[in-house]
Amino acid sequence: MFTDLDLPGNLQNSLESLGYQSMTPIQSQVLPVALAGRDIIAKAKTGSGKTVSFGLVILKNLDSTTYVPQSLVLCPTRELADQVADVIRQLARATENIKVLTLTGGSSARTQATSLHKGAHIIVGTPGRIEDHLGRGTLNIDKINSLVLDEADRMLQMGFQESIERIIKLLPEKRQTLLLSATYPDEIKTIADNIMQTPAMISIDTTHSNDDIQQLFFRIKQQQDRTRAMQLLLLKHQPESALIFCNTKISVKEVTNFLKDKGFAAIALHGDLDQKDRDQNLIRFSNLSSNVMVATDVAARGIDIDKLDVVINYELSKELDIHVHRSGRTGRAGEQGKVWTLYDSTDRYRIEQLEKHFNIKIENHTLPADHVLSTTPAKSATITLEINAGKKQKLRPGDVLGALTAEDGINGTSVGKIKILATRAFVAVDRGDVNKAREYLRKIKGRSYKTRIL
Ligand code: ADP
Ligand code: MG
Repeated sequence: MFTDLDLPGNLQNSLESLGYQSMTPIQSQVLPVALAGRDIIAKAKTGSGKTVSFGLVILKNLDSTTYVPQSLVLCPTRELADQVADVIRQLARATENIKVLTLTGGSSARTQATSLHKGAHIIVGTPGRIEDHLGRGTLNIDKINSLVLDEADRMLQMGFQESIERIIKLLPEKRQTLLLSATYPDEIKTIADNIMQTPAMISIDTTHSNDDIQQLFFRIKQQQDRTRAMQLLLLKHQPESALIFCNTKISVKEVTNFLKDKGFAAIALHGDLDQKDRDQNLIRFSNLSSNVMVATDVAARGIDIDKLDVVINYELSKELDIHVHRSGRTGRAGEQGKVWTLYDSTDRYRIEQLEKHFNIKIENHTLPADHVLSTTPAKSATITLEINAGKKQKLRPGDVLGALTAEDGINGTSVGKIKILATRAFVAVDRGDVNKAREYLRKIKGRSYKTRIL
């Protein structure tokens, strides 16, 4: 129980208001040790609750009356930084005046510099942008007492190692360092040795048991059969949310175009998209307005979706760790996940590695029969509406929900996720209620707005 921990009352209050009672396994191992001040390396699979583990530690180390950055959290992507900052803000909500600032490529460095100048306690950012601010002299890290490397394996994979090392050189030596990762490659060991003081190594077994995830493998004889194999699987099972992984951007584009051509409302996620399209695509997929998303590993970082029916490996990943990572995205929250992997004869070595890792015997499954090709892809249950206003216009989720459900508006149960960005907002509504929803969204709190179907 969180109440057994040595935590200040305001943090206990936030935990209570968030409805968190029992700790996840990683939290119950990390927190007692980390709250006592020790450096930590924590390895646990995606979705195991690592954010709350380090969030509580940095908040405990914080003096909110001094307006200088005291905690630095490094993350691999902007989406992840935003998520982490949101969690920290939630944990800090019973404490007055704690300022959490994200420093990532998502917004202008000048605006960020202004916010920094006004004062911030906790900085969450990507290594590139943090270095940028250090170079400009707009970020002062002399008083940092807690450093967190979140998703350390991903940061290394994305080539941030040197950047991280340069940042760490500038930090005070007397500090607490927490490193979180889903996997623990050798490079992390080396870094950890350099930047941590006799860390406690805490590891919750990352391999899913075979009960958590059903892994099915489908052998592809010729390259041109790959897209068709995927089409057969999707048509046969009609998953509500399927994430398809490709090894390259080019594959992502090809596969997305193929699926669109076959009538699927597939969306792509890769590094060439601009921020606006990226946000929009992620929102549509996570609120179930699109059933299929095709992504590269890097681009898929930061996707936080509770209910991923299936992960499809259009191509087997080059590394075992990546396969484990991909697999970890399905089967959350106690439900059995599914991973479907397409492989060919050149993958033999990697298949053997997987057999060892998961302790399974990999057999070739038969693809669904061709007659499913006459089925049409199911339409998504919801549709996303974009509203031409956001945080800048002081629009809040409650306002949108209120407008939609006012008087004889649509039923609250037909309203899905609401996401408010700086100048735009998105709401998912049941397909059948779209027209009515648009009508009710014309006026929110007395002001007129425009909506658009995505
Ligand atoms: P990780 O960083 O390990 O991938 P997250 O920190 O993102 O995982 O947590 C995954 C989910 O678990 C989040 O939705 C979070 O709100 C939830 N969660 C975290 N801790 C608890 C807890 N003690 N009880 C219930 N839910 C929790
Ligand atoms: Mg995490």
